[in-house]
Amino acid sequence: TLAVEVTDLVKVYGTGDTTVRALDGVGVAFPVGEFTAIMGPSGSGKSTLMHCLAGLDSATSGSVRLGGTELTGLSDKALTLLRRQRVGFVFQSFNLLPTLTAEQNILLPFDLAGRKPDRRRLAQVVSVLGLGERLRHTPGQLSGGQQQRVACARALLGHPDVIFADEPTGNLDSRTGADVLDVLRRSVRELGQTVVMVTHDPVAASYADRVVMLADGRIVDELRHPTSEAVL
Ligand code: ADP
Ligand code: ADP
Repeated sequence: TLAVEVTDLVKVYGTGDTTVRALDGVGVAFPVGEFTAIMGPSGSGKSTLMHCLAGLDSATSGSVRLGGTELTGLSDKALTLLRRQRVGFVFQSFNLLPTLTAEQNILLPFDLAGRKPDRRRLAQVVSVLGLGERLRHTPGQLSGGQQQRVACARALLGHPDVIFADEPTGNLDSRTGADVLDVLRRSVRELGQTVVMVTHDPVAASYADRVVMLADGRIVDELRHPTSEAVL
């Protein structure tokens, strides 16, 4: 089964004779439980593709299906609801609230929605991510790598159809970056999570099961079991 699938996706920015064709007929599927990296030069359409996949932006034409739901034509309100319930995000900048503890940050989406998390799921996520000793710390008391693991835990808690990670190691040195990539890979292996990561780092991409290469708004290559040398 597929977590996300896009067909013939076109995204044009602008109007008149100052348009940019950011995506030019992209078709790609993301199977459940797979870790995919999207790579490509700056301006190749990686962010645009991720935003369309995640329902953060709407395409000009083509189809995006997320967990069986067609996103094309949904209202902004419906998209927001769908994102909250079925999509997780991990960003370069962690996006943790500094005054809350790690545990409060992890629980925040549930608190905001007035929902109770599954305590077993919380324990499982905390254990897989190795955060047990850190739950009462605030972000300022955690290393960058630990902060990003908290952000991963927050994304994982609601068991989203897919987690989108946008340059998750962009603010980390290579060793802590490797910790975070390892956590993403373990969430795929041990929790069956589907992860789509945008990165320009070949080492980061080598943690994925598959690399999709974009250039000029088109998919130009796909690699399985990539090595960092192969995607350089
Ligand atoms: P990447 O993430 O690979 O760097 P982007 O998806 O950000 O690529 O951009 C793809 C193309 O679309 C680029 O030519 C970029 O300048 C253009 N683009 C991106 N966002 C906008 C926007 N909001 N308005 C106009 N052009 C944009
Ligand atoms: P930057 O790397 O520029 O700091 P981020 O990686 O934090 O940006 O965010 C990447 C994109 O995702 C941006 O276009 C931003 O608008 C969007 N974004 C950031 N935080 C959230 C959020 N919590 N929910 C939805 N979209 C977000």
